[in-house]
Amino acid sequence: MSAKYIFVTGGVVSSLGKGLAAASIGCLLETRGIKVNLMKIDPYLNVDPGTMSPFQHGEVFVTDDGAETDLDLGHYERFTHAKLSRDNNWTTGRIYEQIIAKERRGDYLGKTVQVIPHVTDEIKAAMKKVAQDVEVLIVEIGGTVGDIESLPFLEAIRQMRLELGREQTLFVHVTLVPFIAAAQELKTKPTQHSVKELLSLGIQPDILLCRTDRFLSQEIKSKIALFCNVQEEAVITAKDVNSIYEVPLVFSQEGVDALVLRYLRLEAKERDLQQWKEIVHRVYNPKAEVTIGIVGKYVEYEDSYKSLKEALGHGALAHNLKLHLNWIEAESLETEDRVYEEQLQNYDGILVPGGFGKRGIEGMLNAIRYAREQKVPYFGICLGMQIACIEFARHVCGLREANSTEFDPATPHRVIYKLRELRGVEELGGTMRLGAWICKIVPGTLAHRIYGRLEISERHRHRYEFNRDYEETLVAAGLKISGSTPDGTYVEIIELPDHPHFLGCQFHPEFKSKPLEPHPLFRAFIGAAYDHGLRRRADKVAAELEMFHRPQKVSSR
Ligand code: GLN
Repeated sequence: MSAKYIFVTGGVVSSLGKGLAAASIGCLLETRGIKVNLMKIDPYLNVDPGTMSPFQHGEVFVTDDGAETDLDLGHYERFTHAKLSRDNNWTTGRIYEQIIAKERRGDYLGKTVQVIPHVTDEIKAAMKKVAQDVEVLIVEIGGTVGDIESLPFLEAIRQMRLELGREQTLFVHVTLVPFIAAAQELKTKPTQHSVKELLSLGIQPDILLCRTDRFLSQEIKSKIALFCNVQEEAVITAKDVNSIYEVPLVFSQEGVDALVLRYLRLEAKERDLQQWKEIVHRVYNPKAEVTIGIVGKYVEYEDSYKSLKEALGHGALAHNLKLHLNWIEAESLETEDRVYEEQLQNYDGILVPGGFGKRGIEGMLNAIRYAREQKVPYFGICLGMQIACIEFARHVCGLREANSTEFDPATPHRVIYKLRELRGVEELGGTMRLGAWICKIVPGTLAHRIYGRLEISERHRHRYEFNRDYEETLVAAGLKISGSTPDGTYVEIIELPDHPHFLGCQFHPEFKSKPLEPHPLFRAFIGAAYDHGLRRRADKVAAELEMFHRPQKVSSR
């Protein structure tokens, strides 16, 4: 089977939602029974985003095969059933790394190695590799048309059209149609300029997805069509929505999938969007609310916890709840005495997510101590599990200086220490325990009740682990190790049986949660938080009533 290709480019400004557009097109094609795969190309020189700051680049998404990839791959997995691996995310750095390795080996037989054809050939080969076994490959080109860095990629997709022809390739361009308040008008000029830029590179877009805050009138569509040389029906209103899960519905209403099928001459069945409609219905019709406090280092920039935010949302949708997420700067909880407790009082559940480095650790410890003592549902992910172990060691087992060697290399109680297999490895890039690993669950535990299974596979990204030398002490004091690797080497899940819901996992379950398949750990945590919220509010009302009915003290004078 020879696959067809949809190339998604972006113009005018970044952050127009190209990744979501690509994912939504994939989703729509799947609902019509077409097998798709998706690929992201990032024009930067880093080999992968693994070493990039989540402040700058957002979350690092991890695939089953342990690739550290762009967060758009998370959208692809949440919207489709595509199986993604390191082959689905390429950067300029990785393409060049391969070319230079070949050149050093002498593979080019003395030729001069050039951008065209050597770099473009490498890019095309990468695309063709993941297009095997699917009907349609959707390739998202990162960056904005006009950037110097993305030129080789745009040249490669131009060549693909020439090689494969019109019925095998489709160019979708995501652009911006801003509403200018002063003129009270939608402006088409930025789109015209962006398409002109694409045309100058030899690419004529077939479909324009116009990001806008209102529906485009027929008049505006005609104008854009005329100036950009596309069919009127292919000028699509990509209107802003409240929930990302609405995008496939909006696209389907605008006929994007029908257009794609027609342009690519694909036969497909009627689409079935019932499940997505159901999800969106739930988003708009919650039965109640739940409020979660996330205590982390990178609170200023939400993209650094993209999958986590989505997974919590899936958990809330599973219970038909509206989710309020409050990001709490961990350092703000590093107060003298227990003043920090005031900040934590109004949460139905507390979560400490993954993270690296020392900043904010003491604040996270305080938050976990509060959750443990006050019986507030707690969910610790990766770093959040490690700190829960340290907190338990310090305040329950009396090992006051317990720590992770990541934060205090000289600690006398190395409850968390560097992964045994990484001793002596000092490089940062790609040197973690990454990707999917099997975990065995202990029967009868909270983890067992939640998963309903005794063997699971989850994705990892960490450099430190629980030190089994402390197992006996912590377990004797009430901590339960409820999940480990099959050979028993690594601790994967810990919990506190003497608590309504206290669980930490060394892996990142957020990477595997989807709106249509909410991850069990998130569903359970949100459920427990909701119950806690009900209890918390009922207790408050009872306390107020008691105050009200209590006999008033009458002054003796
Ligand atoms: N910094 C910790 C480690 O490397 C936790 C990593 C994480 O939370 N992803 O093990």
